[in-house]
Amino acid sequence: LLAGAGKSGVASYHPVLDQQSLRRLQLGTELEQAMADGEISVVFQPIIDARTSDIVSVETLVRWAHPRYGAIAPDEFIHLAEQIGRIGPLTDHVLDLALARCRRWLDQDIALSVAVNLSARCLTEPDLVDRVQRALRRHGVPGELLTLELTEGSVVDDSVRSSTVLADLHALGLRLSMDDFGTGYSSLSQLRQLPIDEVKIDKSFVLGMSTSQGESFIARSIIELAHNLGLRVVAEGVEDELTRNLLAEMGCDKLQGFLVSRPLPDERLESWILARTGVRSAVAGTPHRRL
Ligand code: C2E
Ligand code: MG
Ligand code: MG
Ligand code: MG
Repeated sequence: LLAGAGKSGVASYHPVLDQQSLRRLQLGTELEQAMADGEISVVFQPIIDARTSDIVSVETLVRWAHPRYGAIAPDEFIHLAEQIGRIGPLTDHVLDLALARCRRWLDQDIALSVAVNLSARCLTEPDLVDRVQRALRRHGVPGELLTLELTEGSVVDDSVRSSTVLADLHALGLRLSMDDFGTGYSSLSQLRQLPIDEVKIDKSFVLGMSTSQGESFIARSIIELAHNLGLRVVAEGVEDELTRNLLAEMGCDKLQGFLVSRPLPDERLESWILARTGVRSAVAGTPHRRL
């Protein structure tokens, strides 16, 4: 894009947008339509029990297959969606796809829980709890089968802290998980006052565990502290056997990472699950069958 002619009438061309800004602008204007056109989909990454290796959950991760740009990573458009005030519709879209998938499992008598990421901005939307509740109802999925992953920054925010949004979400029966734990400023003792059920050790620590004792020490400390506070612990970014064994030995509850599986499109997840030994019922006491 070029600036128009100057006051003098002499065209003076100032490039006002570089390539990257232009791309951002385009993606921003196209986001809504992309959802409608099915360009925005999700993949699912399995999360397994560290002891039994049963699949216990899947994390829903958004993907944008752009007709001109190809695959665009969420790290590029989530922040953009927040900035242009479109994170609400995007979150609803992802939640819808996740719960539809969960419903289809339920129809096959499989109670597998799904996790959905919630950006910080979402927690300040006044109708969030309502929208989550309506989505659960629409799909006929019990709250127990949904986990919302939050980031540290979003829950230490004063307005969120003082509001009842986390308590209200928790009251729907769903689980709250603290994503990317260890990268923010919150301490586990701060989290104790919040209705958090689980922490996910950030992959930056987990990725370093096989080569660095320091990273292993951090992981071990997070696991011990979290357990003392009654929280479950998930390690994300598990890429090798050594790390997996270290985490299991430290008592980490659940594992997620390329070693277990990459994020998979729906149909590939189906066959991945079928090839495994067990789906553990995520709802205690339900008659759902285990694979
Ligand atoms: P996250 O929630 O921490 O998700 C984990 C990220 O780590 C995913 O990247 C996943 O593909 C990647 N990952 C998983 N296992 C491994 C591993 O073993 N090694 C390495 N190197 N990476 C691994 P992805 O899908 O690119 O997502 C990046 C971030 O974008 C997510 O981090 C999350 O913060 C955000 N995000 C993704 N989907 C959504 C969404 O639907 N809504 C919101 N608000 N944020 C989302
Ligand atoms: Mg996450
Ligand atoms: Mg994470
Ligand atoms: Mg992350």
